[in-house]
Amino acid sequence: MPQRVCQTETEYTRVGSNYVNGAWKREFSHRPLQLIDPDTERPRGTLMCANTDLVGKAVQAATCARDPFAAYSAEDRSSVLEHLVELLLRNSESFAQVISSEIGAPITFARSGQVQAGIAHLRSYRDALSRVPEQLQQNNDPKQRIQYEPVGVAALITPWNWPLNQVILKVGAALAAGCPMVLKPSEYATATATAFAELVAQLDLPKGVFNLVIGDGATGKLLVDHPDVSMISFTGSTETGRFIAQRAALRVARSAMELGGKSANLLFADCDVQTAVRQGVAHCFRNAGQSCNAASRMLVERQIYDRVLDLAVSEANAMNVGKPFEPGTQIGPLVNAKQYARVRSFIDAGKISGARLLAGGSAPPSHLQSGYYVQPTVFADVEPNNDLFQGEIFGPVLTITPFDTEDEAIHLANATQFGLAAYIQTRDMERADRVASRLHAGMVQINGTSRAEGAPFGGVKASGYGRESGIWGIRSFQDVKSISGVGA
Ligand code: NAD
Repeated sequence: MPQRVCQTETEYTRVGSNYVNGAWKREFSHRPLQLIDPDTERPRGTLMCANTDLVGKAVQAATCARDPFAAYSAEDRSSVLEHLVELLLRNSESFAQVISSEIGAPITFARSGQVQAGIAHLRSYRDALSRVPEQLQQNNDPKQRIQYEPVGVAALITPWNWPLNQVILKVGAALAAGCPMVLKPSEYATATATAFAELVAQLDLPKGVFNLVIGDGATGKLLVDHPDVSMISFTGSTETGRFIAQRAALRVARSAMELGGKSANLLFADCDVQTAVRQGVAHCFRNAGQSCNAASRMLVERQIYDRVLDLAVSEANAMNVGKPFEPGTQIGPLVNAKQYARVRSFIDAGKISGARLLAGGSAPPSHLQSGYYVQPTVFADVEPNNDLFQGEIFGPVLTITPFDTEDEAIHLANATQFGLAAYIQTRDMERADRVASRLHAGMVQINGTSRAEGAPFGGVKASGYGRESGIWGIRSFQDVKSISGVGA
């Protein structure tokens, strides 16, 4: 794979190519979009959005690939995934560099977090394929067969914040399930997606199984509304997810929604306070706060509240905000001007909302002359009716709210429209278990225990209804058919 650290306009423009029916295409693109470097705020190239013709050709190619791909056994698909894992491992440094230059993620985090998460998820699909049956028997009767089948042509629409990981979560699941696909990555993360497509192009797959179209929301909508698309797997904001789910419902197409979050981190007084605050602050500010599952609302038992505030402020002030490629940078720039304005307006509104600003603020860090940089910001005494508490800010902003009882903690944790993740810190394992069951969230992590590889990733309520990773991700790209009357 060529090195894809795109520094010049020519280099960057090259990556905006579409991959359709086994060939790279530019001629059906229209509508230019200017790309801006998040670190320098300088233009870095122009992207051309795919038009109706090209999207139609991509869907047609995927439709034609349906039967040839159906001839691939689970073992064949597993070998394809294994090959892709190998290619990714061989190119992992290139991907870290592209991600860092494209979205501003600190290079060390791009290497250890962004790229590794994607590879782990791909492995989870490969491993699940060898463990799960494609057919079952109902009531142990061989003449009552339950068969899992690929759902058909899948449209995959992804965001920019974990650009390789989000693409892999969908492409890996679709390949594992046997679905041909059209990927439409975020317009802010096309270099990563194009580099990934170059690897997929090297796999032993029928022409048209994998297609890539480049563009913005309007290009995405063309896919969503295409009558030959059987399923839309979407990751992005709740606002866009609502729109796409409605459009899909109009023609009864399947949709899987992985949407926004505002996850609570519950600190009970008996927890290891220092570790809980250190890990909680780091989790909230990771990827400059631009993670769907960021632990962005810290709920703290009143007995330890003041101590937690002091520790959280020290942790925030010690964070190294800097350029993506500088060693030691922990928080890079936000991805674009829109995000930058949004996050700063949340902070400005927060300052006059009754909450207490303890660290950071909307002024840019004094040592950085340009770029979409926001200081790590901490607000205390944030009430549930405050926008800071309710809104997905998607920047390095931590809110802290006190509670007095376990019931109140659970009530506060559940008091937003979202339900993606939740985090519990306590030494009392009975309480941890009890509270975990009562939290309205798709994923609960106790005392910093990460989800196992292949465990389902997804949320409830306005965080969506999709599940990705492992068998859970594969099944969302499959239909279930019941065949009765034949069999040994
Ligand atoms: P977004 O909703 O603006 O865009 C996501 C994708 O949808 C992009 O590819 C965009 O071009 C496309 N799109 C926009 N409008 C469309 C339309 N009308 N029809 C079809 N496609 C359209 O989100 P974003 O800013 O790229 O990503 C940030 C959001 O993603 C956050 O809310 C974050 O929480 C969420 N997210 C969720 C998960 C999860 O697993 N739950 C993971 C990562 C990010």
